[in-house]
Amino acid sequence: MRKKIVAGNWKMFKTYAQGLELASEVAHMVQDEVHGQVEVVLGTPYIHLYAVARQVAGVARISVAAQNCHQATEGAYTGEVSVTQVASTGAQYVILGHSERRQYFAEGAALLLSKVQAALAAGLKPIFCLGETQDIREAGTQDDFVRGQVADVLYKLTPAEMAQVVIAYEPVWAIGTGLTATPAQAQDIHAVIRKAIATHFGDELAQATPILYGGSVKASNAEELFAQPDIDGGLVGGASLQSREFTNIVKAMRA
Ligand code: PEP
Repeated sequence: MRKKIVAGNWKMFKTYAQGLELASEVAHMVQDEVHGQVEVVLGTPYIHLYAVARQVAGVARISVAAQNCHQATEGAYTGEVSVTQVASTGAQYVILGHSERRQYFAEGAALLLSKVQAALAAGLKPIFCLGETQDIREAGTQDDFVRGQVADVLYKLTPAEMAQVVIAYEPVWAIGTGLTATPAQAQDIHAVIRKAIATHFGDELAQATPILYGGSVKASNAEELFAQPDIDGGLVGGASLQSREFTNIVKAMRA
């Protein structure tokens, strides 16, 4: 069975103290209320990583993700954080290719490939984000577009590397907008992504790859989305900033 994952992306929210409080609340709620096989990932700002990783170290099912990393293991890159540094905090995942990084920091396929490969080499599992903009969806070319995003980066990995990757399909028009893809729209494109993985890497690897949906996931829509056969969980932005709402989303994953 594929891994089921609900990951929160705190983005650039929460002071240090607020972040620790949020992580502690989520850890308690998950411990008390979540009994299935779902893995919960807290995608925190860099400054929280080490402390949150320690906080959740003894808690089953919870791990920690960075939201970005530099592709080098070390070097004179003032202000950057390396893959090795991220891994040394106890984080197991790193979110890469988020549409906000692609849009505001001009991260393209070549850079993302180098980050994905560096993360894997440092023992981190990439949560690789992709998804179309509103214009592409309106033109009806979203399937080709996401196939291209898969090919440009993930086809360059070895099968052993690909086996460590989690994909997050996040239609850009649904991120932080309150708009959500319908369960049928999301299922259709998740199936396209899985097929694209199968075409290059074979069916076994495609069937084992978790593909998360992201874009205004809330407790009220999570159950229907997560019930789709090719949706293996969620990447949650705004709703991950409240422990009750986020835990209810985790509980919507029937695993
Ligand atoms: C995200 O940032 O990855 C995201 C999906 O945000 P939101 O849930 O707020 O739409």
